[in-house]
Amino acid sequence: MERRERERGAVALPSRLKPQAEKEADAEKRIRSLLWRYQPEFVLGGNLDIVFTRSSNTPVSLSQRQGSGTLRLHVLFSRAPESILEDVIRFCFAHRDQPEAKNLRNRILDYVGENRHQTIATMSGPGPFSPRGKIYDLEKTLRRVIRKYVPERRLVSSRPAIGWSKRPTIKLMGKWIETSPGEQNVIIINRRLDDERVPAYYLEYNVYHELLHDLFSIHRSQGRWIRHSAEFQAREKTYPLYTRAREWEINELPSLTMAENAIR
Ligand SMILES: [Zn+2]
Repeated sequence: MERRERERGAVALPSRLKPQAEKEADAEKRIRSLLWRYQPEFVLGGNLDIVFTRSSNTPVSLSQRQGSGTLRLHVLFSRAPESILEDVIRFCFAHRDQPEAKNLRNRILDYVGENRHQTIATMSGPGPFSPRGKIYDLEKTLRRVIRKYVPERRLVSSRPAIGWSKRPTIKLMGKWIETSPGEQNVIIINRRLDDERVPAYYLEYNVYHELLHDLFSIHRSQGRWIRHSAEFQAREKTYPLYTRAREWEINELPSLTMAENAIR
């Protein structure tokens, strides 16, 4: 009821900014309606608990006892498309033969692998993510990168939104997130790079890399996801400071990360 009213409100919140709890409630509803097709007794009995966890060891698990059960899913599944949720339901509840089970399992694991890094951005709390850091303003960096290297995104309406991650993370320096059609895609840059020891050209390189994901979409080839196609890589190398940025990453970035770890 409460949610209904909010949905009818004047401001339509883009789904990427919807609070995580709301996403989970939506996903739970979708799972229950899919379940109807495969295991109506669960729905009728109302005795299936659906729990979203942050444990990444087992992305999907079902424990069942005498007609009741608990389905545990990683929070990533709260944002999964219908087809993936259906794979999960079929994997857990439907009678399937060995090859089909293997197929379903592969698709589920692919989805997890593909979206694992979303946790740095979307899962760390409700947005929005501010582009203004202590040292760098990502909005300015993005504008400069577009002006110099990515004319395809010159129109403001074609640009992704950009912001710093809530917290610094260790490995991933940036993440490009594709949203639903009609919504602005999002680039999240690791807050660790908002540091005076990080040269502007390295930050720029990361923004450039993520922006290229906006141009060269991810596709599947021979059962694998291709994120950095040959075209992507060729274009990436046209960044004039590409070699310098990669060198800085190899030689200097680890010391930045290690120092941060020691403080913690
Ligand atoms: Zn990439």
